[in-house]
Amino acid sequence: MQAWALVDYKAPLRLIDLPTPEPTGTEVLLEVTHCGVCHSDLHLWDGFFDLGDGRRLSLADRGLKLPLVMGHEIVGRVVAVGPEANAVKPGDSRIVFPWLGCGRCAQCETEEDNLCQVPSAIGLVRSGGYGSHVMVPHSRHLVDYAPLDPALAATYACSGITVLAAIRKVMPMEPDEPLVVIGAGGLGRQALAVLAALGHRNIVAVDPDPAKREAALAAGARAALDGAAEDLPAQITAACGGPVRAVIDLVNGPSTVRAAFAVLARGGTLVHVGLFGGGFSVPLPVMAMRALSLRGSYVGNPKDLRALVALAREGRLEPVPVVRMRRDQVNEALTILREGRAEGRMVLEA
Ligand SMILES: [Zn+2]
Ligand SMILES: [Zn+2]
Repeated sequence: MQAWALVDYKAPLRLIDLPTPEPTGTEVLLEVTHCGVCHSDLHLWDGFFDLGDGRRLSLADRGLKLPLVMGHEIVGRVVAVGPEANAVKPGDSRIVFPWLGCGRCAQCETEEDNLCQVPSAIGLVRSGGYGSHVMVPHSRHLVDYAPLDPALAATYACSGITVLAAIRKVMPMEPDEPLVVIGAGGLGRQALAVLAALGHRNIVAVDPDPAKREAALAAGARAALDGAAEDLPAQITAACGGPVRAVIDLVNGPSTVRAAFAVLARGGTLVHVGLFGGGFSVPLPVMAMRALSLRGSYVGNPKDLRALVALAREGRLEPVPVVRMRRDQVNEALTILREGRAEGRMVLEA
């Protein structure tokens, strides 16, 4: 098999030859037909996350080994199965749930794989979808998506379940209760689509880019505010009619979190989703007196993926814009993403 691999941090991915793995046990080998290009690939490409105060989380220190085949938004066709594999057969097309853990602990066994203490995600730790083939340890990590568009379905494995899992952390809410979504780029559009599918009708979107605010309004946001405005907290409370019970911060940088924290109502929840980087100082008495919750949310689990696909199959989930490119354009796609020029989720086709 061949794959576009991260060989050196910050250097263009290189096409390398790898042995095609043979499935054993419950393993399933798929030929990759579609793979989305994601912002988190840029952090892998750099080799670190910015933790604020000049501190960095080095991925090499965390055990990341090069060469790495990135790519975690995968749709593929089953080509071979291990002797103990069930539920799929060669020829079946499936979405790959990539956020794997050890496969044996209580979290993994209850399908909370993304909360496993030994993360082993496809495209981050295991070999991912920027290659011709990908191996999955068990068919329970494969989701049938027919008759949906496979390029769109690929994005559900990451951006889709990321927003669904974050939304679940602030639910239940009345459909008309205000909910703030910070960031109206790719994830923000997906969040608006999922909230609409769940019947939520009162979303205030925040983004510094006027074009993205325009798109958010077109996608059903009730208001769209300038994320760069000096008086953003005042604008949010004005738009929401007072302090807010739920803010989902898809950017999660120091300035967005400061604004989000300032507008939280008593008992309110701020969900941290983005990987922008940086830090934030929390006034501890305020946490207690206002009974606030700050919750991190990282990707989602296989139950989220199946729930999302079900919403899409029922026709309730508005498709997000997808830009199709060829797999050998992967470096171009990453550069477009780095420069903020993407006009939708970019998906590489074989
Ligand atoms: Zn992703
Ligand atoms: Zn586990």
